[in-house]
Amino acid sequence: MPLKSLSPELTSLWDQALQHLESTLDPASVDAWLRGVRLLGLQKDLAVVAAPSKLHADVIRQRFLKPVADSLGVPSVSIEVHELAPAPHSLDELVAEISPPAASSPQNAALRHSNVLQKHLNPTSLNGAGSDSTPLVLKPDYNFEQFVVGPCNRFAHAACRGVADRPAQNFNPLFLHGSVGLGKTHLMQAVCHHLLDKTPDLKIVFLSCEEFINHFISALQHGDVENFRFRYRKADVLIIDDIQMLANKARTQEEFFHTFNTLHNLHKQIVLSSDAPPEDIPHLQERLVSRFKWGLVAEIEPPCFETRVAILHSKAERIGLVLPDNVSKFIAENVGNNVRELEGSLTRIQAMATLTNRPIDLGLAHEIMGPDLRARNRPIHMDHILKVITSHYGVKLAELQSKRRTQSVVFPRQVAMFLARHLTSLSLEEVGGYFGGKDHSTVLYSVEKIGARRRVDSEFTAVLGELERAVKTESNCHG
Ligand code: ADP
Ligand code: MG
Repeated sequence: MPLKSLSPELTSLWDQALQHLESTLDPASVDAWLRGVRLLGLQKDLAVVAAPSKLHADVIRQRFLKPVADSLGVPSVSIEVHELAPAPHSLDELVAEISPPAASSPQNAALRHSNVLQKHLNPTSLNGAGSDSTPLVLKPDYNFEQFVVGPCNRFAHAACRGVADRPAQNFNPLFLHGSVGLGKTHLMQAVCHHLLDKTPDLKIVFLSCEEFINHFISALQHGDVENFRFRYRKADVLIIDDIQMLANKARTQEEFFHTFNTLHNLHKQIVLSSDAPPEDIPHLQERLVSRFKWGLVAEIEPPCFETRVAILHSKAERIGLVLPDNVSKFIAENVGNNVRELEGSLTRIQAMATLTNRPIDLGLAHEIMGPDLRARNRPIHMDHILKVITSHYGVKLAELQSKRRTQSVVFPRQVAMFLARHLTSLSLEEVGGYFGGKDHSTVLYSVEKIGARRRVDSEFTAVLGELERAVKTESNCHG
């Protein structure tokens, strides 16, 4: 779905920048990578540009960021990937583009794209609360069709489909949690797309928790809280991303509590996402924790190997890349669990293949993944972890491996298990084996417990960081 292009002013500014770039760079490179770019917005410190493909964006990021910034006279440039249509010729056409079209499905999709546009034209008009006056900003490809389902996310995916099919009839609220880059935002936007395709005039408010907080603060400052309340409480569907940001924000929590109650009482669907389950969000009021669990809490886990391969194939197909099986397996084996990183390696491979005109094969993949592989080539052994833990906490190895349940032994043991899961590729069972044959559920419990503490206790996070560094040093120095 093409995003329409921008104002004549921006177009002409970009034309000037291109001329400048042509005089300073190799013109063939300018033609290949920069000619198709559009300038979406320009402020004092930042230019936002749209690249016509992910590959273009990647290459520009790697090779042309500074020249582009210089040519536009800004310190930084943000690149988005948009499929572009020709620029409109007049201001009228532009206005026609960004005013809401009549409600039908394809046009509605166009509205969503033009909303992205509006964000750049007038950043202050966008407060993230999608409503008649403040439209939604959705990524066109964050839909259900492009979401690969595997054992790690089947439950969350099914829950989102359920909500999208029958809002407020299945689970209310739906609470998604999982670590970064696992598809929470993608799924939430898929819910929005699906709902809007079915019911274009549904009032969906989709925004990040940060936007909600900022909006609330600004409403307080301007004595405009009534308006703020009205905006959120009249929503048919309220979707807030990264709700863990409410941690420690007592006033916003209070306000959100009332928003939540109002909408829930009116049988309006609420969907929330977080990097942690409700009970692990630091300093979240108990009444919110309990409300977040009223409906369905669904976890997204990191994708297993097979799902990583499937995601790679799906993404490759979408960008027209032929990815041999051995290459996708190689990437899936060597890139961690984060889907965003998987996407990154695919883009790098595509860019390299295009730039050097080489086929995509294992050799190319090896080269691209070199730095990652080298980092992995210094494997961390359990011995390194045990050595660091025993010396830091002053416990004996035999104690860690014993059945002793005193806190002075249990805690270091849990930290060691946590580090083992994060720094080695050992399975839960294998980790348990190093501690006198603890079973996998004990290891899992320990890892989760330490993970939860890490999220709430910044001093402990620092200690964990130190320990991690010490383990890496240990493995580098002593193989
Ligand atoms: P989160 O919000 O959990 O941090 P995102 O939704 O931003 O993660 O996902 C990160 C990237 O990975 C996005 O580009 C998204 O499209 C992609 N992604 C994540 N999970 C999947 C999946 N199961 N299938 C396809 N793409 C995925
Ligand atoms: Mg997200």
